[in-house]
Amino acid sequence: MTRALTDALPEYQLLINGQRVPAKSGATFDSIDPYSGQPWVRIPDGGASDVDAAVAAARAALRGPWGELTPTARGALLLRLADVIAAEAETLAELEVRDGGKLAREMVGQMRSLPDYYRYFGGLADKVHGQVIPTDKPNYLVYTRNEPVGVVGAITPWNSPLLLLTWKLAAGLAAGCTFVIKPSEHTPTSTLAFAELFAKAGFPPGVVNVVTSWGPATGAALAAHPDIDKIAFTGSTSTGIAVGRAAIEHMARFTLELGGKSAQVVFPDADLDAAANGIIAGVFAATGQTCLAGSRLLVHRDVADALVDRVVARAASIRLGDPKAATTEMGPVSNKVQYEKVLEHFAAARAQGATIACGGEPATEFGGFFVKPTVLTGVDPSMRAVAEEVFGPVLAVMTFTDEDEAVEMANATPFGLASGVWTNDVHRAHRVAAGLRAGTVWVNCYRAVAPQVPFGGMGHSGIGRENGADAIHEFTETKAIWVELSGATRDPFTLG
Ligand code: NAD
Repeated sequence: MTRALTDALPEYQLLINGQRVPAKSGATFDSIDPYSGQPWVRIPDGGASDVDAAVAAARAALRGPWGELTPTARGALLLRLADVIAAEAETLAELEVRDGGKLAREMVGQMRSLPDYYRYFGGLADKVHGQVIPTDKPNYLVYTRNEPVGVVGAITPWNSPLLLLTWKLAAGLAAGCTFVIKPSEHTPTSTLAFAELFAKAGFPPGVVNVVTSWGPATGAALAAHPDIDKIAFTGSTSTGIAVGRAAIEHMARFTLELGGKSAQVVFPDADLDAAANGIIAGVFAATGQTCLAGSRLLVHRDVADALVDRVVARAASIRLGDPKAATTEMGPVSNKVQYEKVLEHFAAARAQGATIACGGEPATEFGGFFVKPTVLTGVDPSMRAVAEEVFGPVLAVMTFTDEDEAVEMANATPFGLASGVWTNDVHRAHRVAAGLRAGTVWVNCYRAVAPQVPFGGMGHSGIGRENGADAIHEFTETKAIWVELSGATRDPFTLG
C-alpha cells in the first residue's frame, strides 16, 4: 500500500451528500505522480462504512430533491454543469496529467470535450419516452414508462478517469439516477475535484457522491451493496467478472466496459502513410493505455515490409518526456504496478522468441515509469503479446494473404472492443467492417469517439453500450402498464 511519505501534500476529501468529509477511519493514502515517481496529493482511504453513507445520500437524493425535479429541470442542470466544466477544463486536465501521466496536449482536449457529453444527454433528459402499445386486446390501453433504474455505483479505471466517468454520468443523470463513484486508486484526484462542480452548477446534494480508497475492497463493497440498483463499471475483464458476480448476487443491473486486443487490418491498396499514422495513434498515444488500443497489426504480406518500416521509424522517433510539455508525444506508464506489468511483457516476448523491431525496454533517462514504444514482429497467436491485453505501448505484427484470413485472424480473440480497417476499396471496407466482431470499427481512421456514437464491447470486452441516445436505456427500467377499458368482469381462471 502506498502510504504517506511526506507531510506537506495537498489533501482531498470524500464527497458525500454535498459535504467534503474524511474517511470515517481517518485513513489516507498518497497518490503518485508517475512522471516523478513521487507522491503529490493525499487522498482519503474510504471503506465500507463510507460507501454505506454515500449510498444512503444517493438514495435520499433520489427519493427527494433530485427525484422530484421535472425532466426539463434535470436537463437544464446538465446544461449548466457543461458550462461549469468548460470553465474548469484546464484545471481538471492538470490534475489528470499529474495523477495519471497522460499528455497535457491530449488531456486539455479531452476535458474540453466533456461538456459536449453533458449537453447531448442534457438535451435528451426530457425525451425519455415510453410507448403506447397497440395489442390484439381492444379492452386494454397499454403503455410503458422508462423509469430511472435508481442508485448507480460507478467504478472507473485510471486511464481516462473523467472521460470514462462522464460516459456513465451524463446518460445516467439524464435518465434520473443518482451516483456513488469509486475512482481508481491510481488516479482519484480529478474525480474528487470534478464532483465539487455539481454543487456549483446547482445540483442538490447527494446526487453525485465520491468514495476513494486504496485497493479493491471498497469497490467490492460498492458492487455488493444491497441498496445499489446498478453498477456501471469500466476496467479490466478480470475485475469486471468479479463486479458482475457481486452485482448479480443481489440482482443489481450492470454494464461492463472492459479490455481489448483490437486489430488494425491493413490491405495492400491502403494509403500506407495514413495507415502507419493511424497505427501509431492506436497503440502509442496515451502510452498504449487505452482500452481501444490497436495492439495487433494484421498487414497483407505484400505491403508488410513497407508498412512496418514506416511504423518502426516513427515509433523509434516518438518524443518521450514530461507529459506537461507541449512537445512530448509519449509520457510515462501511469503507475508502478502497470509499469512492472509492461516490463514483464517485454521479458515474455523475448523468452517466447518474438523479434523486437524497436523498444522492448524501459526508458531510464527520465526517472519515472517510462518504457520505449515497442514493435514486435515474428510473433504467433500463442505468444502473450498477441493473446493478452498489455495496456502499454506494445504492437504485435502479423501478416495475412487474403481477406478471409485477415477477418479470421482479427476475430481470433475473446475480446471484441474495436478494430481498424485500412483500404481504399469501398466494397472491401464495408464487407470487412461487417465481418469483424467488435463494438466499433474505424475505416481509414482510428481512435475517434463522440457523445452521439455508441461505444462498448462484444465478448470479453464487455456488456452494454455507453454514449449514443440508446445509452439512456442502460439507466432505465421499462414498466408496462395495462389499463382495463371496458369495466367488464373477467373469468378469473384464464389469462387475459
Ligand atoms: P481494474 O480492473 O484494475 O480497476 C478498475 C476499477 O475497479 C478501479 O477503480 C479499481 O479500484 C476497481 N476494483 C478493483 N478490484 C475490484 C473489485 N474486486 N470489485 C470492485 N471494484 C474493483 O482496471 P484498471 O487497471 O484501473 O484499468 C485498466 C483496464 O480498464 C484495462 O483492462 C482497460 O482495457 C480497461 N478499460 C476499458 C475501457 C472501455 O471503455 N471498454 C475504457 C478504459 C479502460
